[in-house]
Amino acid sequence: MRTEVVIIGAGPAGLLLSHLLGEEGIESVVVETRSREYVEARVRAGILEGSTVDLLESVGLGERLRREGDEHRGIYLQWPGERHHLDFVDLVGRSVWVYGQTEVQKDLGRAREAAGQEIHYEVSETAVHDVESDRPAVTFLDRDGREVRVEARAVVGCDGSFGPSRGAVPATVKQTWGRDYPYAWLGVLADVAPSTDELIYAWHPNGFALHSMRSEHVSRLYLQVEPDADVGTWSDDRIWDELATRLGHGQDGWQLTPGPITEKNVLPMRSFVMEPMRHGSLFLAGDAAHIVPPTGAKGLNLAVADVALLAPALTALLRKNDERGVDAYSETALRRVWRCTHFSWWMTTMLHTSPDPFDAQLQQSQLRWVTSSSAAARGLAENYAGLPIGF
Ligand SMILES: Cc1cc2nc3c(=O)[nH]c(=O)nc-3n(C[C@H](O)[C@H](O)[C@H](O)COP(=O)(O)OP(=O)(O)OC[C@H]3O[C@@H](n4cnc5c(N)ncnc54)[C@H](O)[C@@H]3O)c2cc1C
Repeated sequence: MRTEVVIIGAGPAGLLLSHLLGEEGIESVVVETRSREYVEARVRAGILEGSTVDLLESVGLGERLRREGDEHRGIYLQWPGERHHLDFVDLVGRSVWVYGQTEVQKDLGRAREAAGQEIHYEVSETAVHDVESDRPAVTFLDRDGREVRVEARAVVGCDGSFGPSRGAVPATVKQTWGRDYPYAWLGVLADVAPSTDELIYAWHPNGFALHSMRSEHVSRLYLQVEPDADVGTWSDDRIWDELATRLGHGQDGWQLTPGPITEKNVLPMRSFVMEPMRHGSLFLAGDAAHIVPPTGAKGLNLAVADVALLAPALTALLRKNDERGVDAYSETALRRVWRCTHFSWWMTTMLHTSPDPFDAQLQQSQLRWVTSSSAAARGLAENYAGLPIGF
């Protein structure tokens, strides 16, 4: 089989890339190990930067988002006894949107289906070949176990942290950086209206807590836990008690309303960057090339920003044989990746407690600074609400 671009992975990066290429008349084939239902039900990120929303809207993917998503002007930052609102619109003129990754996936899935996109779900043994040539290929077993080989002009690895693309870049060429944090998040989804209008990021001696949401009726909440925490030891009552303590139930009359928990999981906290994001005819985008801890809400937005750069670069290559965009892709994308890597690390280390009392003093000093100095608040707001695509 031959196409113009083979995309490995039908997560947000892979499906959005196929959509952006499709808008330019570029043909692609997408391969994905999971089923469409599984990919669309995977509960992960939920905060979209303004530029992500603008991009989705510009390619016909914003209608349901604008109708069902919720625009937030900012976030609350708090520690025991104090809660402060940072208004991103006042500070930097930009807002963020609450719209679950599950919904972004569904919108992308429907749009690609309507466009007749070829997507092979439930494949196995995906392998990348000949990336140092102009005729790279991807082989896999389709859901019926048949061997398939697709040749193309370019292969894009959008296969997340565990896919094969990263490994197809030779060790002699790549450089990696990473950090495993000494804590994890226990994430829960609850069928209860959020107890807050905007996200609450809470520093507490017991550990960090975050009150987020996915809709008017569904709350998403997180607790800092040990990296080897066993979900089985966290009963629903224990989770709500700990959330109430850390989020300040009763503080200035604020109430946390508990409700039925429908999902619980432990998320490791990790930073990782791989350079370069291109090797020959192979390009990496999204979590395949970089991972951020979720504290800064950057993972999904970075995946979108990567493919927003890559789609026009591949279009110029395929339509005009113009290599300038693909040659610049890795360096340009990495500028934003490192900015978001730093911001995510900074938010994480400011908010997660450690056994060292010196850290606690520095964290509280930093929290007082970002909530009292407009210069510091603008720095946080600019990064959280998101820098323009192409930064
Ligand atoms: C478990 C988890 C929980 C997260 N939770 C949060 C959160 O709560 N808040 C937040 O802000 N961010 C969260 N994130 C981050 C955010 O969801 C990711 O940054 C985002 O999904 C990146 O999109 P992507 O398309 O690059 O990768 P992914 O969404 O990971 O998509 C990669 C796709 O490639 C497929 N794939 C893998 N291997 C192969 C193969 N061999 N062949 C074919 N296909 C393959 C995978 O099945 C997957 O569908 C989470 C990420 C993970 C992994």
